Amino acid sequence: MNDQADGVAKTNISDANTKTENRRTNTQTRDAIDAIQELLFDPEVSAKIFELVLGYFQEITKSEKGVCFVSGDNAEFPIHANSKLTALANDQEKPFINSDVLATWVGQKNILNTPIFYNTPIPVGAASIIAKDANLSGIMVLPIVLHSELRAICVLGSEVKNYTPAEVHKLMPIIGAVMCTLQSAESVRGNFLGLDQKIADNRYLSSLISSSPLGVIVVKSDFTILLSNPSAQDMFYLRETGGQSADTQALSGMDVHRVIPNYESLFQWSNQQARYGSETEALGPHLWEDQKALRYDGSECSVNLTIFRYSHGTQRFTTLQIQDNTVNQKRTEEYKRTTQELNALTQLAPVAIIRVSKEWECSFANDKWYEFTGLTPDESTGADWINAIHSGDVKDFLEALRFSMSQGVDHSQEIRLVSPIGATKWVDFNLRILISPEGVVEGFLGTCADVTERYINQEKLRHIAEYDGLTGLANRVLFQDRLQQAFNWAERDNSLVNVFFLDLDGFKDVNDSLGHNIGDILLQKVAERLVNALRKNDTVARFGGDEFVVLLGIDDHLTEVMVVANKVIQTVAQPYLIEGNEIFVTTSLGIAQGNHKNANPDILLKNADFALYKAKREGKNKIQLFNEELEAGSAERATMLNSLRKGLKEKRFLLHYQAICNSTTKQVIGFESLLRFNSEEGDLIYPDRFIPTLEETRMIIEVGRWVIDETCRQLSQWQNCENFPEDGYLAFNVSAKQLLDDDLVQHIAESCKLHGINPSQLVMEMTESVFINKPERVKGILHRIKALGLRLALDDFGTGYSSLSYLQNYPFDIIKIDKSFIDDLSTSSNDTKIVKAIIALASSLELVVVAEGVESAQAGKMVEQLGAHLFQGYHLSKPIPSGDVPVFLEAQSKQTK
Ligand code: C2E
Ligand code: MG
Ligand code: MG
Repeated sequence: MNDQADGVAKTNISDANTKTENRRTNTQTRDAIDAIQELLFDPEVSAKIFELVLGYFQEITKSEKGVCFVSGDNAEFPIHANSKLTALANDQEKPFINSDVLATWVGQKNILNTPIFYNTPIPVGAASIIAKDANLSGIMVLPIVLHSELRAICVLGSEVKNYTPAEVHKLMPIIGAVMCTLQSAESVRGNFLGLDQKIADNRYLSSLISSSPLGVIVVKSDFTILLSNPSAQDMFYLRETGGQSADTQALSGMDVHRVIPNYESLFQWSNQQARYGSETEALGPHLWEDQKALRYDGSECSVNLTIFRYSHGTQRFTTLQIQDNTVNQKRTEEYKRTTQELNALTQLAPVAIIRVSKEWECSFANDKWYEFTGLTPDESTGADWINAIHSGDVKDFLEALRFSMSQGVDHSQEIRLVSPIGATKWVDFNLRILISPEGVVEGFLGTCADVTERYINQEKLRHIAEYDGLTGLANRVLFQDRLQQAFNWAERDNSLVNVFFLDLDGFKDVNDSLGHNIGDILLQKVAERLVNALRKNDTVARFGGDEFVVLLGIDDHLTEVMVVANKVIQTVAQPYLIEGNEIFVTTSLGIAQGNHKNANPDILLKNADFALYKAKREGKNKIQLFNEELEAGSAERATMLNSLRKGLKEKRFLLHYQAICNSTTKQVIGFESLLRFNSEEGDLIYPDRFIPTLEETRMIIEVGRWVIDETCRQLSQWQNCENFPEDGYLAFNVSAKQLLDDDLVQHIAESCKLHGINPSQLVMEMTESVFINKPERVKGILHRIKALGLRLALDDFGTGYSSLSYLQNYPFDIIKIDKSFIDDLSTSSNDTKIVKAIIALASSLELVVVAEGVESAQAGKMVEQLGAHLFQGYHLSKPIPSGDVPVFLEAQSKQTK
């Protein structure tokens, strides 16, 4: 009770004392906490804090003795369990604590969490920590634990007093402040605690600053650096980075000018602002951009500085927030360079570039665009750039563009750009759709490569492909294309397509006599005249050689077509003056009319060609319309051609022989081989029906060789026959194409050799038509054949050109007067006169005269009287198969004997 009463009384008495005491100790506690927190600014917080706090502990608890054991080297964090202990404070003279025991405690986890105190009698367990000769009445042990680890231990001792729980209670906030400060310090890795008290109280803010990518340094008024955060250290190469040597403490205590050379002038400026400017402005942060800063290794960098000024107590601090511009600046420079390069590229690029928004408005165009389009920048703004697109292309292009923009797909197209004055360029327009990061179409970027040259080349190539190089007229390819179009139109209009096929008469003569150059000029002039004679929408083409084709552009009535055709042949027939030569050529012209109902382009061309062929056969300067009659022939020709091809393979050609006799003695002196063809159906087909087709297709050459071989073979066989006349001959026929065959002469020679016949027993017959083409060449060939020993006969004389000059200029031996003259000998005195004249001329030229087509004894008599040496005709014999010849010869020899 006493104790209690005492206690109560004591409490009462001591209440007032305690209150005063409490107030005092409370103030002391607050001071201690302030002082500890003040250390937040001190980079050496860990070294100083325990010294400071031990003093306060001793003061508050009135302990004469006090010692603090701190873990680690100068309290470096983290503290390791086996680090050496550092004793601080009032323990130097005479240690009252057994430090060996405590050494095992410090740095360990969960060894001592809360303060403890013992008063006399001190328990034996606890007494072990007290030095032997220390005479203590009380001992208090205060652990400072961070993250469950005993970082430091403060031990207070007194020889005169006992400790109370109230004292422990008072010390607890101080211990808390120490722990908090240490923790904050640790969270900024011992280097930085904050910018002011508030920040220091806010661990999160502290850690934010410590982890900030911005460098932060706090500078004291004497320009020394008080604190720096890791980013600042990194910035100035003062921390272990990438193997670089580091000194984390290097910034602290360093003169700020060492890193920010302009610091003082910035500081002065801030001072002046503080003095003259408004307070908020002066104390508010100010940003200094692009300031020079120096790294630890002396290299320069550029930084942005934000400066805060503030005071703490009497101390004035400046905090610098530092943003390293080097990377940014590099990026900016790189960006500038890239932009510059891009701009240069854009302007230097050989392509026009245009950027167009989704509203179709031009937002950029390079110089080439203006050059290509001839537009000014003003004229290209908004949607006006579209004016640069050629009216012929704009519809298609805009349609494609609309599709591209709506679908977000790129597009390329060859279009024409046209300038306001009409200059046109072909460009390859490639547009790339621009899509925002959100996936929305923003417009397009277009490039236009000038392909005009390529286009011109293409056009040239097309021209080469479609036009005749010599005359500039359309060639076969283009003509056929136009003809097809004409057919399409005709089908729509139910009209007719009209085609002329022309072939110059005697052109070969010009070529051979005056040379190819003049021949070429002649063709050019003919082409020119044709173009001039025809209308603009008529197409004139050259198919090669001297073949010209015309497609009439208008569906005219036949009478008008004939008028045009006549105009054409008259124009062509006008004399030409070329290099001093006056040249006369005419043209034969075939006309075909038709449409989808009865023909197609190929058939129409064939028909016109066929009509031309007929016209040619009629003679020079003729017009022939393809009509039903010709059509029948044409169709027959097609079937015939197939049949002949097949027949040639199947050896269905054969020869019949027609006897030729002396007009006076009637003795057979030879035979003419006449070609026949056995149709598949077994009909014997005569030459009139197949020779033209063979000639057109050049099959005549192959068939002709067979005729020569067969004639020779037959001759060699008959030579030994009893009734075959001595020195009797066989005549064979050749056409113009055969004569021009390079191998003809050699073939004849070889065939004679092969069959062992004397060439003088062969007669080669040809008509005047062989002289139309290359007469000089023909002449040479005839001489060579003659040189082989053959005799030459001019067949069907009196028809065709009937040029007596042939007889004089070519080495003929025989002249065969055409059947047409012989037929009418009895009735036509005119024909008689002609035959007489021919015979007279032939005789003067020492030519043998054969009368053809003698069908009657009377005719035979007349030709005999007129002086024809020989005759042939049905009167003597029709052409007969070879097998019948011996019988015929036998009968004949009997008659003439
Ligand atoms: P060509 O050389 O003038 O042959 C004479 C033609 O007149 C033969 O017709 C013959 O049958 C016919 N003829 C003969 N005497 C009479 C007669 O008294 N009255 C009538 N009405 N006709 C008579 P073919 O055999 O039809 O020959 C026609 C033409 O075909 C030949 O005329 C010749 O130019 C050509 N020809 C025949 N065989 C060949 C050949 O092997 N090669 C070539 N290139 N042409 C040939
Ligand atoms: Mg003949
Ligand atoms: Mg004849």
